[in-house]
Amino acid sequence: RKFIFVTGGVMSGLGKGITAASTGRLLANAGFDVTAVKIDPYLNVDAGTMNPYQHGEVYVLKDGGEVDLDLGNYERFLDIDMTFDHNVTTGKVYQHVIEKERAGDYLGKTVQIIPHITDDIKRRIREAAEGHDVCIVEVGGTVGDIEGMPYLEALRQFAHEEDDDDILFTHVTLVPYSKNGEQKTKPTQHSVKELRSIGLQPDILVGRCEDKLHADVKEKIALFCDVPTDAVFSNPDVEDIYHVPLMVEEEGLDEYVMERLDLESEALPEAER
Ligand code: ADP
Repeated sequence: RKFIFVTGGVMSGLGKGITAASTGRLLANAGFDVTAVKIDPYLNVDAGTMNPYQHGEVYVLKDGGEVDLDLGNYERFLDIDMTFDHNVTTGKVYQHVIEKERAGDYLGKTVQIIPHITDDIKRRIREAAEGHDVCIVEVGGTVGDIEGMPYLEALRQFAHEEDDDDILFTHVTLVPYSKNGEQKTKPTQHSVKELRSIGLQPDILVGRCEDKLHADVKEKIALFCDVPTDAVFSNPDVEDIYHVPLMVEEEGLDEYVMERLDLESEALPEAER
């Protein structure tokens, strides 16, 4: 089983969810059974009571689960039905761990974020991925947020527990234009530095920008962030978000992901996708 972890840097609302869903779509086109998990690091147990002005509409799943509207993107992009357990929230994780503590499951132990909370996070990801070829795991929020720390630590442990070619980290960042029309890489450099300080090295970087990233900008990002140049992709502004899979396919994101995860031999030939 393969896992693709998607994190975001610089700011929220960048298009992390759309990038993650697009990656999933391309793998589904190549014949893989793809599912997704959305991590929402807030303390609410679910999105049901949250203000739609802040978070967008509450999305209701077939099983009645009230979740973040990102799950709607996954259902539409991947053409799948998801269940409530594909939305992991801090509220759910803590509620479960505290209930277990009250039931005496940890008798004698001090219940802690590491390992008890991180173990529960890893368990939820593995359970949601069961029966699928690829599981895309999107971590909501921005790298560096206090709320997201236990999740990133859980992913760090997760990567240790799995084979190298079963795990891939994609980091989505902002590449803004400066006043004199240059694509600036500094925000990306800083957010990758932040990721690395907690023990995570991205395999793929996706730059959200008004336009495609220029070749020299990709080279600079690669050099400073320690990834190959062909692991840097653009996610430019498009009029219709359903064009994003095509944009990233054009730059070869699907081929890169499949090569890195050793999926090429099982993929459908290009002509059949
Ligand atoms: P995040 O997961 O980083 O918070 P989302 O994927 O939910 O971001 O996207 C935030 C908003 O930006 C959404 O309204 C989405 O439709 C829009 N968006 C995402 N990618 C693009 C793009 N390439 N071009 C234009 N709009 C986009």
